[in-house]
Amino acid sequence: MAVIAGNWKMHHGPRATRDFFSSLVLPPNAGAHELLIFPTALSLAAAVDAPGRDPRVQLGVQNIHWEDKGAFTGEVSAAMAREAGAAFALVGHSERRHLFGETDKDVSRKIAAARRHGLVPVVCVGETLEERRGGRVEEVILGQLDAALPALTDVEGRFLLAYEPVWAIGTGETATPDDAAAAQGTLRARLDEALGPSRSTRVPILYGGSVKPDNARDLLAAPDVDGVLVGGASLDAGSFAALVEAAG
Ligand code: PEP
Repeated sequence: MAVIAGNWKMHHGPRATRDFFSSLVLPPNAGAHELLIFPTALSLAAAVDAPGRDPRVQLGVQNIHWEDKGAFTGEVSAAMAREAGAAFALVGHSERRHLFGETDKDVSRKIAAARRHGLVPVVCVGETLEERRGGRVEEVILGQLDAALPALTDVEGRFLLAYEPVWAIGTGETATPDDAAAAQGTLRARLDEALGPSRSTRVPILYGGSVKPDNARDLLAAPDVDGVLVGGASLDAGSFAALVEAAG
């Protein structure tokens, strides 16, 4: 089973969201996989109510605040996201970390908030090009994972990890299956240490960064790549279906 997740970023308002779900025709292998879409918070209700939405596609939000309510203009809480129909929450996406200054501490607090309200966190880690060129991939991704682990292991509950090298996101440049497997093997080893192998194997580690229908199969065949987190190529219903088909 693979996880095929689409992060729509700031694309698709309610109308385009309804159109996506109404026109999505999943391939025959869809039932073997876990399918997730992360629309904008404003389009979540449209996704929930989209006529003809295949219920095998589960929904999530791209970001949450760590408080349940309060004077935080423009923010959305985990409780609200859950009530509106989200089951998952992306936490620490590189665009949140690098464009909006989200810190490891923020990430931990958001994981805790997701957990409090029954959202499954999908925690993203990844190095910049400069960090990769400096030979610091392991140090950076393990640093981000270690910072999140106390919140992730604090209470029993499911979570997913996503390895998303920042240099590969939205750039058309994809990590090779070997690069992805190396980084994800490092994350898996740390999860084994922290959780024990039997609990660790239940944590899917996704790869994200310019995944397309034509490279998804090779990436998903790499060791420790349990799924893909896809931005641009998840926006079109035909392309999302092709990604699912590529999962075999
Ligand atoms: C993402 O949004 O997490 C992502 C990986 O984007 P893209 O597939 O467009 O590189």
